[in-house]
Amino acid sequence: MDIQCTDEELNLFERIGKVATQLNVHCYLIGGFVRDKIIGRPTKDADIVCTGDGIALAHAVAQTYKPALNVSFFKNFGTAQFKVNGFDVEFVGARKESYRSESRKPEVTEGTIEDDQLRRDFTINALAISLNENDFGKLSDPFNGLEDIKSGIIRTPLEPGVTFSDDPLRMMRCIRFAAQLSFTIPDNIFNAITQNKHRLKIISQERITDEFNKIMMTAKPSVGLNLLFKSGLLKEFFPQFTDLCGVEIIEGLGHKDNFYHTLQVIDNAAAQSNDLWLRWAALLHDIGKPATKRFEEGHGWTFHGHEAVGEKMTPRIFKQLKLPQNEKMKYVAKLVLLHLRPISLTKENITDSAIRRLLFDAGDDLEDLMILCESDITSKNKLKVKRYLENFEIVKERLKEVEEKDKIRHWQPPIDGADIMKIFNLPPSREVGAIKTAVREAILDGIIPNDYDAAYTFMIDIASGMGLKPAI
Ligand code: ATP
Ligand code: MG
Repeated sequence: MDIQCTDEELNLFERIGKVATQLNVHCYLIGGFVRDKIIGRPTKDADIVCTGDGIALAHAVAQTYKPALNVSFFKNFGTAQFKVNGFDVEFVGARKESYRSESRKPEVTEGTIEDDQLRRDFTINALAISLNENDFGKLSDPFNGLEDIKSGIIRTPLEPGVTFSDDPLRMMRCIRFAAQLSFTIPDNIFNAITQNKHRLKIISQERITDEFNKIMMTAKPSVGLNLLFKSGLLKEFFPQFTDLCGVEIIEGLGHKDNFYHTLQVIDNAAAQSNDLWLRWAALLHDIGKPATKRFEEGHGWTFHGHEAVGEKMTPRIFKQLKLPQNEKMKYVAKLVLLHLRPISLTKENITDSAIRRLLFDAGDDLEDLMILCESDITSKNKLKVKRYLENFEIVKERLKEVEEKDKIRHWQPPIDGADIMKIFNLPPSREVGAIKTAVREAILDGIIPNDYDAAYTFMIDIASGMGLKPAI
């Protein structure tokens, strides 16, 4: 073997090779597993390609285990898969593909291993290792993929324009691999992406977003995001993001380029957390800026309310990108809305009530909000950054102090909406919400103490101002 495998992996591969030889088919390990072993990255699954019927081979291998392994298969795609000790193994019959321009779905016919390698996206993904008994472990590398792994470059087996036009998802994959593996994309390949960027429209949003999220999860997401931007792909599916780009100057006053600022913020957040959704919050934190940008005479550029506009844009963007419409989306929208709050506290005398309010609004997401907010400090002016970070530490201290004293983060006001509806015999309505908010705010502001009686008296007062009397 040209690669380092565990005993367990070797046992599995020898077993597959033996069965393949019995069935009289050629059989190879191929793709990501081979690539990652050569690079020395962890592997999580293996792809096997064989001449003839991949599903039959998978079943025959599964039968050699006692008890036999469960095989799931897709007849239409000619693929089969089983899990052995938590390790995923996928089988496919070697195929030859020819594409038509209007669809991503090729005409597929049975092919040789060479045909199959030729239909692979990149040379580094086309390396195959034979598993048959007579040449077990022999590397097949028709496009010098090994060389490309060593030099850290991504090339296509075919002319790149053909590879990308045949299956435009490969453009996303190209940038994703460059970002994940810290590989370089040669100019001719990158130019082919730029030329074929419009072809991305035939790819489903789910698959595009899947690759995009893999880029977001790399150690330094700005690298892949910048490649997406420069190639023009980003604008194809995420124009709101590229709208952040650019600097306008009026009366000699400019503002920062919010696209590059955002990339920096994502990198900063990524350095502190592996949470995909926190990275998404970093991506979207200033997304409301283009819509709120104004030039105020004698003052300069402002983006008033961009955090609230960004919060509103978040569900629309999640829908457009087919991201989950669930609590992850709410979490991102909430962080976008709150992203200025901790830093704005550093600009004023920090009152207990302002701290309490932030604790209450952020709740469980306070730590993430603080990471986002700290990541947002990106000025080129080192002194300014230092001053901000120092003030920021003060806010952190104060948050800790007030939380220890008042336990606001998981606090619920002593009177809730259900109480209000019962007391005033009201249906769920705007009035109920208004009374509830007024009571909560009064406690957070320290106007009334945090107990039921005080809240009750205050509530009766507020309600009577709205023409409401208790029914009980
Ligand atoms: P990872 O699993 O880390 O995403 P991978 O290289 O294993 O990387 P998969 O999507 O699992 O990627 O695909 C397995 C193999 O199938 C690839 O290595 C490649 O040879 C081939 N492949 C996958 N997608 C395409 C595609 N769109 N066009 C051509 N070949 C592809
Ligand atoms: Mg894989």
